Amino acid sequence: MADANQTTKTETYDAVIIGAGVSGMYMLHRLRALGLTARVYEAGSGVGGTWYWNRYPGARFDSESYSYGYSFDQGLLQDWDWQEHFAGQPEILQYLEHVADRFDLRRDISFNTRIASAHFDEQATTWEIVAEDGRRARGRFLITALGPLSAPTMPSIPGMEDFQGDAWHTAHWPHEPVSFDGRRVGVIGTGATGVQAITEIAKTAGTLTVFQRNPNYCAPLGNGPISSAEMDEIRARYPEIFARCRETHGGFLHNADHRLTMDLSPAEREAVWEKLYHERGFGIWTGNFRDTFTDQAANDLLSDFVRGKIRARVQDPAVAELLTPTNHGFGTRRVPLESGYYEVYNQPNVSLVDIRRNPIERITKTGIVVDGQEHALDMIIYATGFDAVTGAFSRMDIRGRAGQSLTDKWADGPRTNLGLTVAGFPNMLTLVGPHNAGTFCNIPRCIEQNVDWVSDLMTHMRDQGLASIETTEAAEDDWTAHVYETAAGSLLSKTDSWFTGVNQNLPDKKRTFYAYAGGAPAYRKQCDEVAADGYRGFVLG
Ligand code: NAP
Repeated sequence: MADANQTTKTETYDAVIIGAGVSGMYMLHRLRALGLTARVYEAGSGVGGTWYWNRYPGARFDSESYSYGYSFDQGLLQDWDWQEHFAGQPEILQYLEHVADRFDLRRDISFNTRIASAHFDEQATTWEIVAEDGRRARGRFLITALGPLSAPTMPSIPGMEDFQGDAWHTAHWPHEPVSFDGRRVGVIGTGATGVQAITEIAKTAGTLTVFQRNPNYCAPLGNGPISSAEMDEIRARYPEIFARCRETHGGFLHNADHRLTMDLSPAEREAVWEKLYHERGFGIWTGNFRDTFTDQAANDLLSDFVRGKIRARVQDPAVAELLTPTNHGFGTRRVPLESGYYEVYNQPNVSLVDIRRNPIERITKTGIVVDGQEHALDMIIYATGFDAVTGAFSRMDIRGRAGQSLTDKWADGPRTNLGLTVAGFPNMLTLVGPHNAGTFCNIPRCIEQNVDWVSDLMTHMRDQGLASIETTEAAEDDWTAHVYETAAGSLLSKTDSWFTGVNQNLPDKKRTFYAYAGGAPAYRKQCDEVAADGYRGFVLG
């Protein structure tokens, strides 16, 4: 399949990797350094994964740029200058392309190749993958580098196919520039994606109509340019920056405040929140009092504080009320970070339509009908989210021992050991897969840990002359139970969101917990202990 345009022969590698995003790229680099043969299959025409697909206007980091970049190579750290504290998608993609060039990754990547199936051949202890165009390859290891948010979901609204204007999901944004000048634009969805897109589109659209079901609590991003002196200072601090990310629960620069909300007087805690609200990045979410994630009363106080901020920023009180969440607490869904989002609703060209009270009735050739009234549009943007965490797996036919389907195995929710391995699926490694700390993380920080763990495993197997690894059912049961016990204490597990698999476009998706809420340091410690204990809970052969 490698360079399969020239050959129909089934190529065989030590490892086949699906996905050339942040995790697949680093995995390829590490395997090469171990002297193993590897090939990456990527549906897109270039590297970058999430940053390749999500080209919608306003797409940018919510992590500080310098905390997001790879940390594994000093030369790379030294020769890249970030332009903004939170880089925009074009700069991010440029960075990932630079990484691909620097490490000459593209020669081992097959682009424009969407994998349809991966089946384990028990006789040969090998995975065989088949692309949608019929090309095949085999690898002793199958490494999925799919990303948790890579299978976009569309609503099913009567008449969608009738619309005669432009219509895109944000994750399938065109590569050509799109102008909003003078156009009547509609956006459905107000998650982290919708919030970024709306803020940007409102700057130039003729009119912008936002169709909102549930509002989210959004908080200021605090972006700004990085001067070259500042970049020098950041570069000097890289060891400190990455050391800090290693210590924090989510791999971000912001660490939880270990005081409890009620330990402070109302004035004291408001002062802390005021400061966090105006700080860069996720401080108000991941740098807050630790009980805001677990104690409803503490969370209620913080939620009230953020609601007050929303009301203060939106001039029309009726619009402010619509934008203010009341059915969940602050931070129990992923907090969208914004740069003037609420002020957009003070502009004369922007209107908000409540589709919670009056759902969209239908889409016509010329617009969206709500409550009997057509909102005439030239363009509809679907910022409607993803079949999160498991969706990228279930859109392929992955089969392990005895032809067992992974989708069937996970029908009642994922079952894994360490979020990296699955019983009955030998030699399959799921980077940032379900129940892996990477699903609730400043993702490259967890990706590097995942890839390093897998690379150490490969080294161990090579040195010991081993050909296969499979988790025991018992270890899988233990990890799955641990994931759910950890989630049970968190308010996140009680709220509808992609963390809990609630997506109304996917009525059959099981409501359970898809991430690991125990934090990246605890996760890393458990991974390290398993390895140090001779891969406890695994059968190696
Ligand atoms: P999302 O958080 O799942 O939000 C989807 C939005 O679409 C919600 O507002 C949802 O409303 C709405 N929606 C879905 N189906 C609908 C329908 N049929 N009718 C009306 N509304 C519908 O998805 P997302 O905004 O793409 O974000 C997903 C995740 O991607 C984020 O949480 C974040 O982790 C990541 N992300 C990261 C960045 C970054 O790092 N900078 C940027 C963007 C996204 P309901 O809430 O009512 O269901």
